[in-house]
Amino acid sequence: MLTAHKTQNVIVVMIDGLRWQEVFGGADRDLLWTSGRDSLALSRDRAAQAQKLYWRDAATERRQALMPFLWSVVLEHGQIFGNRELGSDSQVTNGLNFSYPGYNETLTGFDDPRIQSNDNVPNPNVTVFEWLNRKPAFAGKVAAFGAWETFNGIFNRERCGFVVNAGYDPLETIPANPELTLLNQQKAETVRIWPDEPFDPLPFHTAVEYLREVKPRLLFLGLNETDGWGHAGFYAEYLNAAHRDDSYLHQLWDLVQSMPEYSGKTTMIVLPDHGRGVGAKWTDHGEKIPESKETWMAFLGPDTPALGERSQAVPVTESQVAATLAALLGEDYHAAVPKAGEAIEDVLGK
Ligand SMILES: [Zn+2]
Repeated sequence: MLTAHKTQNVIVVMIDGLRWQEVFGGADRDLLWTSGRDSLALSRDRAAQAQKLYWRDAATERRQALMPFLWSVVLEHGQIFGNRELGSDSQVTNGLNFSYPGYNETLTGFDDPRIQSNDNVPNPNVTVFEWLNRKPAFAGKVAAFGAWETFNGIFNRERCGFVVNAGYDPLETIPANPELTLLNQQKAETVRIWPDEPFDPLPFHTAVEYLREVKPRLLFLGLNETDGWGHAGFYAEYLNAAHRDDSYLHQLWDLVQSMPEYSGKTTMIVLPDHGRGVGAKWTDHGEKIPESKETWMAFLGPDTPALGERSQAVPVTESQVAATLAALLGEDYHAAVPKAGEAIEDVLGK
């Protein structure tokens, strides 16, 4: 399993509660025209704009309009799991289908029945990020950024030993520069639609500043607007957030390819923490909405064979992501933590 690999750095981007239905099929016609909240005067213009931006007759064109980076560069050079219509399955195994259990499963490799809420409490488990940070080759070269303040608990900021920056907290652990100063001001001063998470541009651009300055080998970025707009029932904004997050993947990928520390030796992994319901239940997810266990995942990097959109593939689970990212970095997490899911062989290359 741990054969010669080119990957020296891994970037994990999680897009909260973005459904596989939109990832593979683009905007949903019924939701785009009839979603209740979008008919409010407040968002009527945004809904009309979203119809123009994201509606196309063919699903392949719709998904390209929604996530153009995923459906060009990742499709051509990486792998994308989760299109049920092609016989590819990706899911969470925790049975709860909401955020903390999903992030815990993905980042530790196993589901923990003690985790029953989204409360921002310290994770009793050690994530693969913390496990790697304890190794000399990775010490001080691990960092996590996210919109949602509960990432502080999920990564166990007090214990983990690396930078975790989430919620509205300013980033003050690297030297100030004009960009960072402005980002910290924006976190303090912009309207707080959600008390526990700012809009995605703030954690994204903060993570970019950190990456330029510190050049971590393992970076997490958590983007949460998709879930926030989903619960609020604003389909147009949910789509806009997905589209913007795709542009962040593009910007991150272009940035790392321009830096000698990363170029040609960085793998990016993208996935959500859970799915959502279907039809009128698209706004919600959880134990009582069985479809919300359905996810998707994408891999792009120098070791991952360019198999594109996977079809008739072995089913994958979020519990395999921790061992997969470690294996890409040459480390055997599954051997150290046997209850963690096994690495996804198909993306490791030979
Ligand atoms: Zn949610």
